[in-house]
Amino acid sequence: MKRRSADATRCVHSGEDRHGKAGPLTTPIAQTSVFIIPGLNELRRYAEGDRDFYLYSRYGNPTVTAAEEKIAALEGAEAAVLTASGMSAEMIAALAACKAGDEIVSMLDIYGGTVKLFEDVLARYGVKTRFIPYQELSKAESYFTPETRMLFLETPTNPTLRCADIAALSASAHRHQACVVVDNTFATPILQKPLALGADIVMHSATKYLGGHSDVTAGVLAGSKKWMERARELMILTGGCLDPGCAYLLLRGLKTLHLRVERACRNAAAIADALQQHPKVSHVYYPGLPGHFDHELATRQMTDYGMMVSFELRGGEPAVDRFIKRLKLWYLATSLGGVESILSYPVLSSHIGLSARRLKLLGVTPSTVRLSVGVEDPSDLISDLESALGRA
Ligand code: PLP
Repeated sequence: MKRRSADATRCVHSGEDRHGKAGPLTTPIAQTSVFIIPGLNELRRYAEGDRDFYLYSRYGNPTVTAAEEKIAALEGAEAAVLTASGMSAEMIAALAACKAGDEIVSMLDIYGGTVKLFEDVLARYGVKTRFIPYQELSKAESYFTPETRMLFLETPTNPTLRCADIAALSASAHRHQACVVVDNTFATPILQKPLALGADIVMHSATKYLGGHSDVTAGVLAGSKKWMERARELMILTGGCLDPGCAYLLLRGLKTLHLRVERACRNAAAIADALQQHPKVSHVYYPGLPGHFDHELATRQMTDYGMMVSFELRGGEPAVDRFIKRLKLWYLATSLGGVESILSYPVLSSHIGLSARRLKLLGVTPSTVRLSVGVEDPSDLISDLESALGRA
């Protein structure tokens, strides 16, 4: 797999708001809601669309801009727009692409909140979504109609870590004049560049790996100037802007993204191997395992196999409960992407409330456990898992 070493330099330097010799090395927090305007001429220019200075923090803020530029550089995008959360980014992407009467085609294997946003919220405003279960992705063409305006993909998926072929699906969507939005939260731009594979917009829950320290809630969209101008207008009008303090934490987290991803990928691969050999584990989901359904696609599309590992624990919910209670290093928490290793139980968190039929289609069972692998010492992580499994 290709390594993209320039990302390390982008993580550290892109976007930073530096002012030469006497200036600070790090981008300061512009903790202000409003900016002083030099005069009426500038006010008029701003109203006419000239945005080369700041007016009001909901519209733009230097700390937020620095983080946007760093993420745009990492995704290979012309521009990026930060939002208050990943959900806010998704809402804005959908509003940018669709109006009442239009349709979305979306993978079914996506974050549960996104399914609810499409199915319960957007449907009320006349935007219908057709969901494709993973098993039917090769027949995606049959889901597009003349009304389709957006294809929504998330890859690798949660929690079975299946991969969708971004290049092939983007080509299908473009034949139907639909824009392609890819949720790149699980992969990060270090492992996967959806725009280079043909997507139009890439989105993240920046709450996860981009922030990386479980202390920020944020979202981001990145893509062409044309899409990002639309997205920014919607971000401004729906009020989903990111606070400058959060943008600072995000910038700080992004500087070590490449290091965290590299270490956590190595840890995840070692954990997947160890789990595969454990008698209490009946199945391991990790795209790096040669037996994983999408190993070949992941090898082609990503630069490494990711930081998430899921598995089936023999004995269902009671065994999972005992396992979790015996862990000392891993915490039960419903997120992912931080430096600390945590685990989640999808049937009672990301997939709560889904019908038995849907859970079956998604391959989620009461035995499924999802691990977000952090950057700790791999032998400590493995020995804690093995000792808790032994007593599950
Ligand atoms: N996309 C994915 C893949 C997620 O896992 C999540 C949240 O868990 C979201 C989007 C929503 O992001 P946020 O919680 O930042 O709103």
